[in-house]
Amino acid sequence: MQVVRTIREARAAVAEAKAAGRRVGFVPTMGFLHQGHLSLVAAARQDGCWIAVSIFVNPLQFGPSEDFERYPRDEARDLELLRQAGVDLVFVPTAAEMYPPNAVTRIHVERLTEHLCGPWRPGHFDGVATVVAKLFAIVPADRAYFGRKDAQQLAVIGRMVRDLDLPIEVVGCDTVREPDGLAMSSRNVYLSADERRRATALYRALCLARDQIGAGERDVSRVAAAMRRVIDAASPTQVDYVSVVDAEELQPVERIDRRVLIAVAVRFGGTRLIDNVVVDPPPAGS
Ligand code: AMP
Repeated sequence: MQVVRTIREARAAVAEAKAAGRRVGFVPTMGFLHQGHLSLVAAARQDGCWIAVSIFVNPLQFGPSEDFERYPRDEARDLELLRQAGVDLVFVPTAAEMYPPNAVTRIHVERLTEHLCGPWRPGHFDGVATVVAKLFAIVPADRAYFGRKDAQQLAVIGRMVRDLDLPIEVVGCDTVREPDGLAMSSRNVYLSADERRRATALYRALCLARDQIGAGERDVSRVAAAMRRVIDAASPTQVDYVSVVDAEELQPVERIDRRVLIAVAVRFGGTRLIDNVVVDPPPAGS
């Protein structure tokens, strides 16, 4: 496994793999890896790819009051996990390598960023889209793998790739969960034991919504109210949103009459957790 820190070295390694006829799979991450990240690597391996992973805590996607400084980092452990997973290249740039001092270009994806995390994290998705576009230019892979856990991010990147004709296929991978349903996240380490127990309310609320819709419920306000009760019972510090949006454009809906994304963002102490499920209403008459 090759570990490189410069754009030039990353490009050279990928070019060599491509020249050898390999299909290149790319997994961008912010490190502090868990089974969710490793499931993306496994998907790339399943597809027969030569696998590149990036580890970069991107300052551009953190707001001034967010957790950039304290975001968990453990490069040695990450590299060991990636070595065991059979990864071929790890790109670990510094912020200075990624952003020259006079870098002023930003990518803004409209519409898909209007709701859910968009209003709560101003500039976040511009930071994500910009760094991912740069990473795609540095690691010109055939496929890039992203988790559905970050559903809005996946939608934003998929749309950016389509709108800008970037020559890469975006692959979405299912959310990997702890046995009690909590979505794996690098930020879960921030949770106290008590917060960690209460945090299971997110997935329980999402499952309740899925069950209600499966049983014929179509009214978003009723679904959202039932979810709210489950989440409020866990005494969160703050509920940023409990939202039902159409799964394509991420716009709020009132009735569940097509595929929807049900998404929540909830804070326990200083830790902001997100989770979601995609639900198709059963066909009419069933
Ligand atoms: P991050 O390091 O948090 O930026 O995540 C890097 C990639 O891993 C993103 O595509 C995430 O959506 C994905 N990811 C994070 N957590 C999970 C999870 N629990 N299951 C599946 N994918 C995940």
